[in-house]
Amino acid sequence: MIEARGLRKSFGGNEVLKGIDVQISRGEVVVVIGPSGSGKSTFLRCLNRLEEPSGGQIIFEGSDICAKGANINLLRQKMGMVFQQFNLFNHLTVLENIVIGPKLVKKCSQEEAEQEAMKLLERIGLADKAQEYPSRLSGGQKQRIAIVRALAMNPDVMLFDEPTSALDPEMVGEVLGVMKDLAGEGITMVVVTHEMGFAQKVGTRVLFMDEGQILEQGAPQKLFTSPQHPRTQDFLSKVL
Ligand code: ADP
Ligand code: MG
Repeated sequence: MIEARGLRKSFGGNEVLKGIDVQISRGEVVVVIGPSGSGKSTFLRCLNRLEEPSGGQIIFEGSDICAKGANINLLRQKMGMVFQQFNLFNHLTVLENIVIGPKLVKKCSQEEAEQEAMKLLERIGLADKAQEYPSRLSGGQKQRIAIVRALAMNPDVMLFDEPTSALDPEMVGEVLGVMKDLAGEGITMVVVTHEMGFAQKVGTRVLFMDEGQILEQGAPQKLFTSPQHPRTQDFLSKVL
């Protein structure tokens, strides 16, 4: 479904991605771990062209998304993204936050978009918050809303960049729970996280990134119990 070939990204003279090769199949939950500054966010952001790769190729559903004339808007519709800082529109209600994408981009009717939004809100137990503004919600509630806002576009892939890192500890579980349910429904996910429990229980594959490269990857059980690379061993000894 997604393939990166020799993906490179530099900011000025700083080469942040040094040739990433990876293939992600439909239905996989790929968890990306690694030290701060290793290029995890940049990698995710290149996948949906929030960053312009400096070299290499990204093939998504059969087309090269870096090619001239690639349809970036269609690409972004098909890849939902959830950020650490929620990025909800604070001047819109919860319901308005969710319907705005389907209405503007997919040209859904107000009624159709609202019906779909309410279904999604019911699924995460927040239907009663539809008319609230984000400022009245907890961090965990905001992030669950951010997830269903992305889902409202009916994406083929969901990208998560440290979705629980800005949350108070007691709210981490509710967000991971929604993500676990999604994984159970078979949606393809790429998740950057420091939640090693989630990686082990929900991940179908774990990628360890260090200094702009994927140093090691494998099934969670294998990677966590017998990491091969010394840098993976060192990282895991600090976070597990
Ligand atoms: P991670 O998510 O693993 O912590 P990032 O992908 O955010 O790593 O960052 C990797 C490196 O790229 C860091 O050294 C960071 O300073 C640099 N970087 C990221 N985004 C930018 C940017 N927009 N401009 C310049 N440097 C950047
Ligand atoms: Mg990051």
